[in-house]
Amino acid sequence: MRHIAIVGSGPAGYYTAEACQKAFGDDCRVDIIDRLPVPYGLIRSGVAPDHQSIKAVARRYEAVALSDTVRFVGNVSVGEAVSVPELLDLYDAVVLATGAPADKPLGVPGDDLPGVIGSAAFVGWYNGHPDFAALDPPIGGLDAVVVGAGNVALDVARILAKTEAEFGGSDIVGHALNRLRAAEHATVTLLARRGPHQIAMTPKELGELAHLTRAVPLVDPADLPPLADDAALDPGMRKAVTHLRDFAQPHADKPVRIVFDFFARPVRVEGATHAERVIVARTRLDESGRLVDTGEEYALPATLVVSCIGYRTPPIAGVPYDDALGRFANVDGRIAPGLYAVGWARRGPTGTIGTNRPDGFAIADLIAADIARGSEKAGRAGLDSVLTERGVDIVTFRDWQKIEAAEVTRAREGAPREKFATIAEMLDART
Ligand code: NAP
Repeated sequence: MRHIAIVGSGPAGYYTAEACQKAFGDDCRVDIIDRLPVPYGLIRSGVAPDHQSIKAVARRYEAVALSDTVRFVGNVSVGEAVSVPELLDLYDAVVLATGAPADKPLGVPGDDLPGVIGSAAFVGWYNGHPDFAALDPPIGGLDAVVVGAGNVALDVARILAKTEAEFGGSDIVGHALNRLRAAEHATVTLLARRGPHQIAMTPKELGELAHLTRAVPLVDPADLPPLADDAALDPGMRKAVTHLRDFAQPHADKPVRIVFDFFARPVRVEGATHAERVIVARTRLDESGRLVDTGEEYALPATLVVSCIGYRTPPIAGVPYDDALGRFANVDGRIAPGLYAVGWARRGPTGTIGTNRPDGFAIADLIAADIARGSEKAGRAGLDSVLTERGVDIVTFRDWQKIEAAEVTRAREGAPREKFATIAEMLDART
């Protein structure tokens, strides 16, 4: 028997479990350990609540979770309740699939003012992550600035701009919907430090902005490169830039304007007691494509500044860590004998949910190569006795199904669920 522990129950974790099942059949026992009582990581807490079709992939993970070889062990924080060295004693392979849930700091003066929020916190808040249920972001001011030109920035801008009716069918949590429906944003500015050809946004997500009820996306035509230059782009990027060109055409005005501010780099946030404005440096790309300031600066009013500039994997005691890259030190997923990293914890926060599938299969291949046959290690029975001895209240997949059923029962009309946003509520819902 090969005993495998996967730390983290998001896409990378479940794809790795699926790959181990396929590689080893009945000759493996896989424990998926998560610090939360609820599974699915980024699918539950990161994917936008109005993107339910993406969240539907959780059904595939459920099929893996319900097999005999795989079990979910929730409410267990690795590094606190049990250490990585202890897991390595109990299991033949330990795979860290902990994602990248910490915000990369904005790193400008004033980024600690109230009102400046990282996207992990902001997205976690509207998605009901227990770490951010009490965030209370300053929604309701007229002007918001969203920093970054990636898909997370698009998610945040869209969520800020939607009407209550546009959240129909989503699982945005009640505490966020109540705040957002009362908001009266007039301008949401997306600050992109480079140009339209350097965005990290994808066409489908950009296209959604064109269909919002009360908001209109706007691009300054002067920021667009000559049309002929689009020919050199790959097809996806060309399609994305075509949306930007459309946003530069005259459109009927709407109450909320989503303004793409290209070649714009935040240099500081100012305000007496909370964020009031972002000071922005105008940039350009030099002949070799490097970002340089032009010397021009201007102020954008903003009481809410959401920084969507990427994420880091938090370190875990005893695990080699690459501080410069913000993830576990690894070579193609190998960290140390028996210890692996997969998904964002391996390669950083890039790619779609599906990118994690080949990643999971690659790790299963490494485990197969490194651990030729099973061992007499204690595996899940050993973990159970350690956790019982320490009084840890484990949440099983059956418990999660009860939590999920309770969330479905209390959903507002038209919504798939109303998530519990605190750990105490999640644990209570098991009974
Ligand atoms: P991302 O795609 O890496 O984009 C980060 C953005 O932040 C880039 O535009 C980057 O600009 C900018 N940036 C970085 N540091 C900055 C700084 N100090 N000041 C100003 N701007 C800065 O990251 P993400 O948006 O967090 O997305 C993470 C991953 O999740 C991506 O692969 C994304 O596609 C995926 N995702 C997908 C979906 C979807 O498919 N619907 C939704 C959400 C997220 P530079 O390019 O100049 O560095």
